[in-house]
Amino acid sequence: MPAPIDAADTIVAAATPPGRGGVAIVRIAGPATGTLALGLLGQLPQPRHATPAVFRAHDGAALDAGLALFFPGPASYTGDDILELQGHGGPVLVEALIARAVDLGARRARPGEFTQRAYLNGKLDLAQAEAVADLIEAGSLAAARAALRSLQGEFSARVQALDTALAGLRAHIEATIDFPTEEIDFLGEAALGRQLQEVAAQCSALQAAAQQGRVLTEGLTVVIAGAPNAGKSTLLNRLAGHEAAIVSDLPGTTRDLLRERVQIEGVPLLLLDTAGLRESGDAIESEGMRRARTAMSTADRVLFLIDAQADPCAQSFAAERARLPAAVPVTLLYNKIDLLARELGGATPPPGASATLAISARDGTGLDALRRHLLEAAGYAPGEGGTLSARSRHLEALRTVGAHLAAADRQRREAGAGELVAEELRAAQRALGDITGQHSTEELLELIFSTFCIGK
Ligand code: GDP
Repeated sequence: MPAPIDAADTIVAAATPPGRGGVAIVRIAGPATGTLALGLLGQLPQPRHATPAVFRAHDGAALDAGLALFFPGPASYTGDDILELQGHGGPVLVEALIARAVDLGARRARPGEFTQRAYLNGKLDLAQAEAVADLIEAGSLAAARAALRSLQGEFSARVQALDTALAGLRAHIEATIDFPTEEIDFLGEAALGRQLQEVAAQCSALQAAAQQGRVLTEGLTVVIAGAPNAGKSTLLNRLAGHEAAIVSDLPGTTRDLLRERVQIEGVPLLLLDTAGLRESGDAIESEGMRRARTAMSTADRVLFLIDAQADPCAQSFAAERARLPAAVPVTLLYNKIDLLARELGGATPPPGASATLAISARDGTGLDALRRHLLEAAGYAPGEGGTLSARSRHLEALRTVGAHLAAADRQRREAGAGELVAEELRAAQRALGDITGQHSTEELLELIFSTFCIGK
């Protein structure tokens, strides 16, 4: 059960990370903030002014001295009264201040509770609240920029525009349902079909933007698979830019998954090097292969390496193809092309693979093309301005919107039924509302905010 959200509580947490530093910030928010300020500082600081203050224990002894900032609600981050105490950055001092606030009636905040309050008080919508976490988590400057755009409401504004278009169309259809003689005419009209198409195009454009955002925010998981000695570890090291994996002529060197985080044009990539896929009686190697197969089933893409010299007909892929997860796209990489006397022809991908590239993991040939291919295949176009941050959850909601729009058009064409078209549009609007949190459940909120850090 998610913890109940109790706006009557006054909450406290460190807003700065644990450990030692120049300054540490303790943040207090809620209705009793003013009372706590009197107990801690002996005064309520002037709103929005940095006020030098001594932070005091229950007997009046000084705990620390620093700056106090008071933000009266509703013009504060959470919408409640907020007090920020900036003290010296030592963990003992921070804990003493928090304990003192708890003595005075505050409760320790749960992860993300400040931002959750901001959402509940209408300061941010859910997509913006998620962008706060994505901004903090951003693994590259490009991801941070995208998160900031979403936080500033660009993504929400596009969702809102789509919602307005849907609402307009629905109102139009519902009006004709009330005047049945006109209904047949209107539903048969090309104009309605066109309007539905326009809204669907708007939805697809937003879906493409959200897909880019998802890639930037959540990154891609790419599994490197293939027969032993195909060059998997060499490729991992190349892409990582350092010797992360042991390269050896002995098959079966990599027996467990190796993980490396790299970036391509700001997109975070989790690369997994797997144990070579081959029949083996060795228990550890077999377990490594089981793990390799599990990793592949949840990957965004599998790079299947083939030794272009030893296995020019890609028999190792043909042998493994049936066991690869059907839903995960596979790129065939012909490796070791530096050993070939002739250039490989532009091979069309065999069944089971969506693309074919030729590389040399040893000398780096084809690796830029591979990087570009990974971004393109993920629907990410680097350099295109205005990327927003987004999550899988948003993308799923937009897919649902698209499916309801397609169903609405079918109802219009095949059944000519206004009520059913309107019903599909209503369902599309509901799915859209999930993104900004218009009808979020407590479970969803718990899921989202529990991944935040404490104090945010
Ligand atoms: P893995 O078992 O698939 O991880 O393969 P490794 O990365 O350990 O490589 C096996 C052998 O192939 C090593 O001797 C590598 O140096 C060699 N190798 C890997 N990639 C290339 C390549 O592009 N060209 C050549 N000539 N040799 C390579």
